Amino acid sequence: MSQLTPQSPVADATSAQAHALPSAPRRNPQIPTTDPEAGLKVTEIFYSLQGEALTAGLPTIFIRLTGCPLRCVYCDTEYAFVGGERMSLAGILAVCQSFPCQRICLTGGEPLAQPNAIALMQLLLANGYEISLETAGALSVKEVPVAVSKVMDLKTPSSGEADKNLWDNIDYLTPHDQIKIVIMNREDYDWAKAKIAEYELDKKVSVVWLSPMFNVAAEAEASDVAAPTLAADLAEWMLADSLPVRLQLQLHKIIWADAKGK
Ligand code: SF4
Repeated sequence: MSQLTPQSPVADATSAQAHALPSAPRRNPQIPTTDPEAGLKVTEIFYSLQGEALTAGLPTIFIRLTGCPLRCVYCDTEYAFVGGERMSLAGILAVCQSFPCQRICLTGGEPLAQPNAIALMQLLLANGYEISLETAGALSVKEVPVAVSKVMDLKTPSSGEADKNLWDNIDYLTPHDQIKIVIMNREDYDWAKAKIAEYELDKKVSVVWLSPMFNVAAEAEASDVAAPTLAADLAEWMLADSLPVRLQLQLHKIIWADAKGK
C-alpha cells in the first residue's frame, strides 16, 4: 500500500503500488469554487482497502483532509487535527490519478471543515471518480454533490460530542447515503435505537450501521484474539430488538490494527 504522510504528501516511490505522479491532470475541467487558489490542507493520500460501509473490501483511494472541529473520545485520527500540507485541487487530482483506482473516499478529520472540499468533490466527479464522503454530521451536508455517497456519523452521548449533531442534515440524506453510529456501551445503543425510531433513519438511507468502538490496544491486552468484545454484546442487543440496521466491524483495523495509511 502507498501512503502520503502529513509531512510530505508525495507518493512512496518504493512501494510496489506507488505510481509516478503525472505532471498535470488528464483533463482540466472548470472548477466551481470561490477560492480556487486556496486549495486544501491534506494530511495524507493513500491507496488501501475500504474498511467500512457498503464498499468495504474494495480498493479505494483515501484523501484525508486536515482539521476537525470535534473531539470524540474514541478518535483514531487525531494526527489529522493539525498540520498537513496545502495542495491545489489539481495537485490532489494528479495524485489520485497516480493510483490504479476510480474509487475515492474523502475523509478526515472532518472534510467539510474546509469549504473547498465541495469544489474538490466536483472536480473528482468531473474526472469520473466514484466518491464517498465520511462526515461527522456536525457540519451541513447541503452543498455536497448528490452524486457523492455520504456516510454520515451520528455522535452518541459517550462520544462526548452528541450536542454537535446537526439534525437538519437528515433532510439532505438520500437512499444513496448511509449513516454510521459508533457504539461504546448500552447507553449509546439505547440512544441510537431511539434516534433511529424518532427520525425513521432506516427509511432515509440505504443502511444504518452500528459500529462497536474498536480499541485495538485494549483488545490486544485483554486477549490474543483481535476481535472487539463489545461487538458480541451489540450483536445480541440488535438481535433482541430486531433493529433494521447492520452491525459493522472496521475491516482495516482487523487486518492492520491502527497502522496509519491503511
Ligand atoms: S469527528 Fe472523526 S476526526 Fe473528528 S474527532 Fe470525531 S472521530 Fe475524530
